[in-house]
Order: sequence, then structure tokens, then C-alpha cells
Amino acid sequence: MRRLAGTALSGSFNGERFLMGEIASSDDREPTREWLQSLADERTGGHVRITGSLWLTTFDIHHAIVPRYRLGRVFPAGDSAHIHSPAGGQGMNTGMQDAYNLAWKLALAVRGRGTEELLESYHAERHPVAPATRDQRSAQVARTTWAEL
Ligand SMILES: Cc1cc2nc3c(=O)[nH]c(=O)nc-3n(C[C@H](O)[C@H](O)[C@H](O)COP(=O)(O)OP(=O)(O)OC[C@H]3O[C@@H](n4cnc5c(N)ncnc54)[C@H](O)[C@@H]3O)c2cc1C
Repeated sequence: MRRLAGTALSGSFNGERFLMGEIASSDDREPTREWLQSLADERTGGHVRITGSLWLTTFDIHHAIVPRYRLGRVFPAGDSAHIHSPAGGQGMNTGMQDAYNLAWKLALAVRGRGTEELLESYHAERHPVAPATRDQRSAQVARTTWAEL
């Protein structure tokens, strides 16, 4: 789990801009402008001054991956198989690629032409993609949240 602290800033970009940054997931204090300013000072070298804040909050980004993409006749795909940060817009795309990989294998199996080996290949081919995507997205959140200004 990752936790982000942030504030919506007034006076720019159709009235709002968001300042967000990653904090320790164990840090559950209520956000204050002073705290966010100290985080901004620490991470931007004092270049960002929060003057008008509309909303202060923290939120968590969860990530999880099922250990197997096949449990008998059940083949998890999409968010039922893997969830991670939406940063980078990979969730739906990854899920569609799961479905693309799986659909023709299931279609053959339904017609009695799909082997066990072919059905097992769904896990072998798609499961490794999930941790790679999760790690890339988590790294992206850590790198870019303060750059949203
Ligand atoms: C803020 C945000 C921004 C995002 N931006 C992007 C992006 O830019 N690009 C991208 O690729 N992805 C993005 N994603 C991720 C993307 O939305 C998801 O990965 C995708 O929608 C998952 O699709 P899915 O079909 O696997 O699951 P879902 O969309 O969750 O669909 C599951 C469906 O099953 C239904 N359901 C649940 N339980 C049952 C039940 N027991 N019986 C019957 N039906 C049930 C639910 O109601 C739902 O309709 C974003 C996600 C978020 C939160």
C-alpha cells in the first residue's frame, strides 16, 4: 500500500491544481497546510508556496495480484487478477491483453480442441506481466507526484 498526501490549489488551470506527494503508509495524521508546506519545502527546495488550499487529504493506493491465473475452471483477468496505481493508464490495457490472451484458448477448449497445456499457458504468459506493471506504476507515482504542478 502507498499513501499520498495532497492539496487542491486555487487560482490556476480551470481553478484547480493538485499538489501530491508520497508519504509513509504508516503516517495517518490529518493533513494540515503547514505539514504539506514542510513536505513541499523538503522536496522542491523551497520553490513551492501553498497560499490557497481548497481541500487537504490523504489517500491510499492499493496493489494486489492473485497468485495463480487459473484455479480449475476459473481464470481471473483484469482487475480481478491485478490492481495497482492508475498512474500511467495501464490497468484497462493490461486487462484487455489478459482477455485477448485467454479468449481464443477458452474458445478452443469449449470446442474440445484446447489442451490442458494451452490453458495453463495463460498463467505462464500473463502472470509475469502483473508484478512488472505494478512496480513500474509504483515507481512512477513516487517519481512524478510532486511534478504535477
Ligand atoms: C482513477 C482511475 C483512472 C484509470 N485510468 C486508466 C487509464 O487511463 N487507462 C487504463 O488502461 N486503465 C485505467 N484505469 C484502470 C481501469 O479502469 C481498470 O483497470 C479497468 O476498468 C478494469 O476493468 P475490469 O473489467 O477488469 O474490472 P471492472 O471495470 O471493475 O469491471 C468489473 C465489473 O464486474 C461487476 N461485478 C463485480 N462483482 C460482480 C458479481 N458478483 N456479479 C456480477 N458482476 C459483478 C462490477 O460491477 C463491474 O461492472 C483507471 C482506474 C482508475 C481508478
